[in-house]
Amino acid sequence: MTLFIKAKLADQHAVVTGGARGIGAAITTALSHSGARVTIMGRDTTALERHAETLENAAAVPCDVADERSVERAFEAARKKFGDVRILVSNAGQAKSEKFTNTTRELWDTMIAVNLTSVFLCARQVVPGMLAARQGRIVNIASTAGVQGANRMSAYAAAKHGVVGLTRSLALETVKFGITVNAVCPGYTDTDMTEQGVQELMTAKKISREEARAMIMRVIPRGTLTTPQEVASTVLWLCGPDASGITGQAIVVAGGEIT
Ligand code: NDP
Repeated sequence: MTLFIKAKLADQHAVVTGGARGIGAAITTALSHSGARVTIMGRDTTALERHAETLENAAAVPCDVADERSVERAFEAARKKFGDVRILVSNAGQAKSEKFTNTTRELWDTMIAVNLTSVFLCARQVVPGMLAARQGRIVNIASTAGVQGANRMSAYAAAKHGVVGLTRSLALETVKFGITVNAVCPGYTDTDMTEQGVQELMTAKKISREEARAMIMRVIPRGTLTTPQEVASTVLWLCGPDASGITGQAIVVAGGEIT
């Protein structure tokens, strides 16, 4: 079974942004186990190198996805190491909860830059090569906040809705070239980001950790957080040959949060 899965992505070069921890670490692990050569991008060089060492055929490349020059340099380094990129997973992101009336211009700009412009900048690095090769897979990690409103998260939700719009539009432009472009929309997932959300709720509502976690659990019909591996399995499937007919979709992985 492992050999069969490995053959599916054998030697394809996959780039994953924010690939050293959380959902990204699960995605890079899944892609590497499937035979891909994986470039792991992110800002924390130590974390990148430590994670790359645990995988076969993986390279750590520092990158701030909100910085255009940094993205250009990183993809140049990635191509030098593993050749043209056939799979791009734009996963890097940040979330900050704030009431609309307290949302500063700075917070707005950061949320748009890190969560949306980054997806554009990374796609721009790989689409020409994919068009020329008539082959490619792009998966953008959006959020349930990309397909419905999110209370006290207007900047983040606007950025993630933008990711879904970009995904659907780019899918139309590339569909005749053997390229698929999809978004995966996780719900509350068991990572540092959700832990940060718990902390923010505790401060905003002056409640205990248990109460904050209970508030989050109430919106998940399954009653448990999504796991990074559940998100990674969906990404892996979208990157493989079995999903060749699926493009322009926003697939929710969220334990029933959205039906
Ligand atoms: P984490 O906070 O655990 O990880 C975020 C990742 O993004 C890290 O690897 C971080 O790496 C990277 N990152 C952040 N900013 C930048 C930047 N400027 N440049 C490069 N890399 C950056 O979050 P998750 O794993 O939970 O989130 C992954 C994705 O899933 C995000 O897009 C998030 O919005 C989305 N998501 C998460 C949900 C959740 O509940 N956890 C729910 C819905 C969507 P480093 O710090 O090294 O740069």
